[in-house]
Amino acid sequence: MRPRLSHLLLALVLAACAGQPVPPATPAASPAGTSERDALAPAVADLSSKAEALLRAQDELVWKHWTEGVPADLAKTYVGTEGWLTPEAVGKVGRLRALTTDGRERRGLDHLHAYLAGEWMAQQLAEVSDAIAALEQSLTFKVAGTDRPYRNLESILGAEKSALRRRQIYEAATPAVEKVSALLERRGARAAELLPALNLEPAAWTTELREASPDQLGALADTVLTRTQDAWTAALTRLAQRELQLPLDRIGRQDLPRLVRLPPTEGFKRAEVVPRVRSTLGPLQLDPAALTSVTLDAGDAPRKNPRGLVLGVVVPTDVRISLRPVGGARDQRSALHEFGHAVHDAFTEERRFELAKLGNRTNAEAFAALLESLTTEPAWLEQAGLSPDASRPWVQGVAVQELFLVRRAAGKVLFNLAAGRPGADAHTAYRTTMDRAYGLPGTALDEARNTLDQEATLGAADYLRGWLLGAQLRAALVRKFGANWWQDPNAGAFLKPLLAPGNGLDANGLARALGDPGVSPDAFVATVLPRLSGTSSDAPRPAPAGRSPASEPAATPAVPPASAPTPGTAPFSAASAVAPETVPAAGRAELAPGTSDAGTARQEPVPPRRELSP
Ligand SMILES: [Zn+2]
Repeated sequence: MRPRLSHLLLALVLAACAGQPVPPATPAASPAGTSERDALAPAVADLSSKAEALLRAQDELVWKHWTEGVPADLAKTYVGTEGWLTPEAVGKVGRLRALTTDGRERRGLDHLHAYLAGEWMAQQLAEVSDAIAALEQSLTFKVAGTDRPYRNLESILGAEKSALRRRQIYEAATPAVEKVSALLERRGARAAELLPALNLEPAAWTTELREASPDQLGALADTVLTRTQDAWTAALTRLAQRELQLPLDRIGRQDLPRLVRLPPTEGFKRAEVVPRVRSTLGPLQLDPAALTSVTLDAGDAPRKNPRGLVLGVVVPTDVRISLRPVGGARDQRSALHEFGHAVHDAFTEERRFELAKLGNRTNAEAFAALLESLTTEPAWLEQAGLSPDASRPWVQGVAVQELFLVRRAAGKVLFNLAAGRPGADAHTAYRTTMDRAYGLPGTALDEARNTLDQEATLGAADYLRGWLLGAQLRAALVRKFGANWWQDPNAGAFLKPLLAPGNGLDANGLARALGDPGVSPDAFVATVLPRLSGTSSDAPRPAPAGRSPASEPAATPAVPPASAPTPGTAPFSAASAVAPETVPAAGRAELAPGTSDAGTARQEPVPPRRELSP
């Protein structure tokens, strides 16, 4: 039986994104304002305590479900919340915020406001969200007489060797996509109708969730695409030729999951995956699992969910990490990514619930991306036992996948901005933005999938900025401590004050603490472009004398076995395709990069949890 978790998995898809942000209310400085504030403060404190207790109860259930397979009835945790999870409560928090001038207080109220508003909306949308989850689980499509589960579409495409079959599969899945799309549209329309009840205007709501305005996010996405366009096209052309023996104009989006999958590597034995993370972080004094406040479950209980999960049950004093290593470099990356989340949760010194646990996920993603980036450092790979010959195609493959994911996220931001403009046609908006992002002209079949990428609140922007900011973190570390920064214990001392404020610091604040003016593509572009062509100055050393230090890997990267699909790499995020084996993950599920709207309203303001790793 499916655990009743799906209504927490809601991807909140708001239909429209038009209009200007609502200016913040002018703080009242009058004595009347002061007394109103004094009157509101206890009520808001009470709401905060209730929210904290609710999330904690849910986290405990999710943890049991995840690690032991115990059914989790999250719906039960909402019993009694009707009395306080209301538009009136959201209004009170908003009003208190308007009366508050202190920056830190306001930020706490921002996070609480976003949480309560999102949570209330998620409750109102629970029915249609449940229907979407159920449909995604049950849908199948027929290929060559065999029923295939729609939810595995991405991994099926990634594993399919034949280009012809990939096209057939993609086509055959389209009716399933259309069924899901119809429900997604219904939910989006309903969500848009709910906003006025919360006194929210779409652009202001997006700004509150993303902690950046739609215009700023659009400008960033546009810059990312422009600055990586030529390199992406060149990489795609090379890959299409090498992997599929096809020119660029003969490939389609159905081929992308296969093209951007990571090459298999030697080494990274299962038993070494977690110890390797810990022995990297230990000398930096940043091993979360060494803290008594952190629980690490790396066992392989039979009913355990194989996906990584980090739960800040109480941040920072009760943080849980669930991993089930399978071995391989991809798995090593996932483990590092999850540890990055744990580092972010466990090393904050912020104790206040609204600033420690609630808030936008971008900074947590940045630390996860930073740790993941170790798997592209030549010295780290060598330490892990990977030969330079094996490192080169691996690093190149990672660069391709990272650039793909970043560009897809940027494309989704631009698509949703375009689709939200008054009078916009979603198909046209999708064609112009995603054709550019993928570097491939789309077809009618691709455009039929536009609804799957609709996220009115621009959830993909968090991942986009998280990856860029992760590269900024790495660049700052390399500047201060050299290319092998993780080997210098001072690097840990440098990172700790950046972790201390938790979600009290926003993404631009973290960038400024690094000496940058804000979140910027510079570091990411400077790192990824040379790696794409294998010309990176920090690329693995050339092969020993006698062999040509080819900039192209000599060997054709092996094809992963059909049993080793590459989740999270497909080009059509769907509320579905990724919605996993599905995860409950409720409020916590971090959707795979490029998944449908990041999430539930409910999870939006709650920082990262589980996820698929690219
Ligand atoms: Zn993450």
